[in-house]
Amino acid sequence: MAYTVLARKYRSRTFDEVIGQEPIATTLVNAIKVGRIHHGYLFTGTRGVGKTSMARILAKALNCQKYDAPTTTPCGECDICRAIAEGQDVDVLEIDAASNTGVDNIRELRSNTAYRPARARFKVYIIDEVHMLSTGAFNALLKTLEEPPDHVKFILATTEIQKVPATIQSRCQRFNFRHIGSDAIAKRLGEIVKTEGATADDAVVQRVARLAQGSMRDALSILDQLLSVSPQKLTMPVLDELLPPAQDEQIFALLQHAAAGDVAAALSALDRVVAGGRGLESFCNDTIEVVRALLLVRTCGPDSPLVDIPAGTREAYVELSKQFELSHYVQMIAMLEELRRNVRYSGAGRALTEALLARFARMRQWTSIEQLLAQLPADAAPPDEKKKNPALENSPQRVWVGKPGEDEAPAEPARADASPVAARSYTPAPQPTPDDLPGSEPDVAIPVYDDTPPPPPARRPGELVRRELSVDERARIERDPVVRQALDLFNGIVIDVRAPLSAPAPSTAE
Ligand SMILES: [Zn+2]
Repeated sequence: MAYTVLARKYRSRTFDEVIGQEPIATTLVNAIKVGRIHHGYLFTGTRGVGKTSMARILAKALNCQKYDAPTTTPCGECDICRAIAEGQDVDVLEIDAASNTGVDNIRELRSNTAYRPARARFKVYIIDEVHMLSTGAFNALLKTLEEPPDHVKFILATTEIQKVPATIQSRCQRFNFRHIGSDAIAKRLGEIVKTEGATADDAVVQRVARLAQGSMRDALSILDQLLSVSPQKLTMPVLDELLPPAQDEQIFALLQHAAAGDVAAALSALDRVVAGGRGLESFCNDTIEVVRALLLVRTCGPDSPLVDIPAGTREAYVELSKQFELSHYVQMIAMLEELRRNVRYSGAGRALTEALLARFARMRQWTSIEQLLAQLPADAAPPDEKKKNPALENSPQRVWVGKPGEDEAPAEPARADASPVAARSYTPAPQPTPDDLPGSEPDVAIPVYDDTPPPPPARRPGELVRRELSVDERARIERDPVVRQALDLFNGIVIDVRAPLSAPAPSTAE
């Protein structure tokens, strides 16, 4: 017997067998049960997720000879069921829009719809990759979709729904086919390996499921290759030899090092990835995927349907996802995307990548803009107001405002010319400990200097010059209520003033 590829051999044949698209199968089954079968369906989803299988199952359900009416359990054995399964039925026409893009093809189809089916109840047109049709062809199809004869059903399938005109979409019942979860793919692969009389290590099955990225067809084609190399027993070395070692495991380890702040280990991990022969561009792509998975685990939780992480690695993903903040993930993805574009044209791609990893490893110590903004009121609040707010007191970040001679002096002396009141905020660097950081507590470990001078009051236009103050002047200025308030606010002192060259000694400091 001729060899049949696994993807064909194990195509799902009934609504019950469809993997990963249960909600769609259920909806279609219910529609058949209550006799509300639409005249046009639009199946959208990436390749290999079961669109064609579902279309054929629906066609069989409509036409199975064993029953007098559409059924939810087509027999799969009658002539019609068998012909449909092979894509050879006279009344169920599978059209590849990619090679029949023209208006003439659709006109011909339209004129054919007038004829009754040869032997089945319905004429079913399955148009694959429908987005490839020309504008004229879409218009011709639209007329048929508007008022098809009762004996005609359309099932349109596409991987690029955005290219299908809204007018077509609105005349069809649309079903979005999901990526198939790697757990579901792994389970199915395990069954198929068994049926094929082979054995496979769990790790092999899981890695193949992961490599397939939601496509059962891709998973089965990898399995095909594996079984052709090693028909009896599938082990990791077999898989490693056939396919480059899965980068995502190495990348995951690399990110773990980065989370731990271990630049050296992260760079070594990068070296192993590069030594594996995959280019830096694909490294970026793969890393983006892993970071995205971590972001989703962090934000939606590991059980969200959005999250598709490999079986057996769930705990590790959950653990690592906690190491970075949401804003870190956002930045990481943006940085990786930028790197991806740069490495293509840069001769220093490796160095750029290493620099990026070093930044990742320091990232946990960054303060987010949000955190800085959140601190602003705390910084600006007068000391007694701080005392009223226990949240501020408990904050791991204490802000010290420069006042020479105080014991918490900053590393650098306050720069006298930076601002009239020599205010310079300095955040000491508390190393975050687990106790300090319950849940999503911000982590800040590097000193944050605020060099921004306060906005000049600009009370009077004209050139300002800085000059030293006499003792009297200083005393007078410090008595000014506005100055007093400013000094209290910053816990500062008056060092000098800036005033118009010709003006008399100012009554208030700026
Ligand atoms: Zn049948």
